[in-house]
Amino acid sequence: MAQKIKKGDTVVVMRGRERGKTGEVIKVLTDENRIVVKNVNLVKKHVKEIPNLREGGIYEIEAPIHISNVMLLCPKCQKPTRVGIRTVMEGDTLRKYRYCKKCDENIDLVREKVRVKR
Ligand SMILES: [Zn+2]
Repeated sequence: MAQKIKKGDTVVVMRGRERGKTGEVIKVLTDENRIVVKNVNLVKKHVKEIPNLREGGIYEIEAPIHISNVMLLCPKCQKPTRVGIRTVMEGDTLRKYRYCKKCDENIDLVREKVRVKR
């Protein structure tokens, strides 16, 4: 299945204690269906000092959240939306787009394939 949420997307948290927060996706964990969103779901982590490398202390890091808890913030209509995937034949080229299920605009190109005529 094509990836519906990608690194660099802006998503809105729909569930949990951080509902309503918006942030940029900084990592996608495909196998777990989880993503890491900048400044969302921060947890404190105790880090030991490594001499000459880093200081010890308590750091805040983003913990992954499940992909079903977020919606993409559509760059076209600026609303949280579900993402669809559609394939369109344009000339000789088969293009796969991610699109917004709210405003029906294409968000970006996922893949394209040029049909070779025989
Ligand atoms: Zn939209």
